[in-house]
Amino acid sequence: MAWTQNVLRVNLSRGTCQKEPLNMDWAKQYLGQRGLASKYLSEEIDPKVDALSPDNVMIMATGPLTGTMTSTGGRYSIITKSPLTGAIACSNSGGFIGAEIKNAGWDMIIFEGRAASPVYLYLENDKAELIPADDLWGRSVWATDEELHRKYQDPLLRVATIGRAAEQGCLYAAVINDLHRAAGRSGVGTVMASKNLKAVAVRGTRGVGNIKDPIAFMKATAAGKKVLADDAVTGEGLPKYGTQVLMNVINEVGAMPTRNMRDVQFDGAENISGEAMHEPRESDGKPNLTTNAACFGCTIACGRISTIDQGHYSIQNKPEYWGASGGLEYESAWALGSDCCIDDIDALTYANFLCNEDGMDPISFGSTLAAAMELYERGVITQEQTGGVELKFGSAEALTKMAELTAKGEGFGKELGMGSKRLCDKYGYPELSMTVKGQEFPAYDPRGIQGMGLTYATSNRGACHLRSYTVSSEVLGVPEKTDPLATEGKPALVMAFQDATAAVDSAGLCIFTTFAWTLEDIAPQIAAACEGEWTAENLVETGERIWNLERKFNMDAGLSGKDDKLPKRLLKDAAKTGPAKGRVNDLAKMLPEYYSLRGWTPDGVPTKETLDRLAI
Ligand code: SF4
Repeated sequence: MAWTQNVLRVNLSRGTCQKEPLNMDWAKQYLGQRGLASKYLSEEIDPKVDALSPDNVMIMATGPLTGTMTSTGGRYSIITKSPLTGAIACSNSGGFIGAEIKNAGWDMIIFEGRAASPVYLYLENDKAELIPADDLWGRSVWATDEELHRKYQDPLLRVATIGRAAEQGCLYAAVINDLHRAAGRSGVGTVMASKNLKAVAVRGTRGVGNIKDPIAFMKATAAGKKVLADDAVTGEGLPKYGTQVLMNVINEVGAMPTRNMRDVQFDGAENISGEAMHEPRESDGKPNLTTNAACFGCTIACGRISTIDQGHYSIQNKPEYWGASGGLEYESAWALGSDCCIDDIDALTYANFLCNEDGMDPISFGSTLAAAMELYERGVITQEQTGGVELKFGSAEALTKMAELTAKGEGFGKELGMGSKRLCDKYGYPELSMTVKGQEFPAYDPRGIQGMGLTYATSNRGACHLRSYTVSSEVLGVPEKTDPLATEGKPALVMAFQDATAAVDSAGLCIFTTFAWTLEDIAPQIAAACEGEWTAENLVETGERIWNLERKFNMDAGLSGKDDKLPKRLLKDAAKTGPAKGRVNDLAKMLPEYYSLRGWTPDGVPTKETLDRLAI
């Protein structure tokens, strides 16, 4: 079965925790995690609801393979309505808490309402309690995690918590689990704070003992692990360099968003790359990277654990930052680094520590800071607003100061916490916000990788690389090479990636497996674990169903095809250097064909026939 078939419903307004059966009809249609929780969300809230009102619902959901012996089966997602975008939010995280929820006997936890005062959920197998958290409110992620471990004296307790950024209303606040794993995007932490829910602490000792055919599952997962081990990306590149393996590659193809996406290549890329993280520092002879790390059950181990030079200005008198913690991923290195033109790897690592320590999305923070730097360059924002900080591109001091302020919701950090769209709107320059549906771009300039433009424009959660990572095909040649500068064939490519990704997310697997696995590798694992018929074809259809359900939620929330757009800068200002020199993103060439392939109207609305075909 793989599903535990148990849902924990927590009503924060009433202070109740109740067990209910999982809707198995929906599970067979939507698999789990992202898909299944999106179905619950769609059924339980009015999509027009204010995301920060008690009427919004927040779901922590696992997939059927979460907690099993498959590789990367430690994933869980938070699904809710986003306060940043007004669209559906689904943020996926690794670490250990997903597997712990499953091992405690639950497929998902649904939080509804709002507690009258701060609480945390303590979950130990069947025992679920809401406990006052007034003493934890106002404390960082790291302090909260430490306090809960001190209280329960259990090193295997797994904690997901918000930090001060969420409490202060930062609209891209994250939920951090296991100290440095993040359900990072779209402000899911802000929703959690709006519910006065500080943390979820879980201990599960039951094991996932409900695999349909254990022998077949062992065979299928062992075969899958061999494929991952033999692959150059998942077997070598990611373990050695993490996602930072991409920094120099993407810079070379001319798709490295730089200076608030004015440029497509960054001179300082090498200094903040995965390779640079291995280099001994001049000051103390130690490298930035201490070790790699794995989430639950993962055989790839792309995680980074880093230290900062103890003499670095940012932490000179702060011994609490002298130890090792979650290091730079490619996305954080790009957003904090090249988009702000900063190549001081210690400063980036410190800012990244702060994002983990107080729970905020480093992509949205870095991108918002880059927009603020452009506003400062134009004289629109001055030192009067910034509290005397010179907000110049290239200033590592500005980055670290602003990260400190935003994490705590103080000074100009409060404005940065609004996100790039609201900041640029406020100062009268909406065109300087590099966002789609109000969410900041990730690290691939769509002038140099055309399919990513369509990916961003049509993403159901705003600009995002994790909804359709066509970089795999367009740059890395996986599963087959396509020309990054061509638009022909990209609508079909984007749709195929979107549907496959929705299925992978919903199974409870990490998307990084798909550098090596196709759905042909994944289907036998799901089929051996779960009731029902699970083939690669069925998974594509499941993914398409999930994609259309999310789209329908967004349409019902008030979004439309008009929101499938890119900032003018990417459509009008040609790339100045690199292989894409002279190119803009040709979204208009791709979008109509994409709508047609999707079975949507020319305005981008799913037709009744399409929804009926997918039984939505
Ligand atoms: S590949 Fe990386 S992010 Fe994915 S599960 Fe493994 S360690 Fe975690």
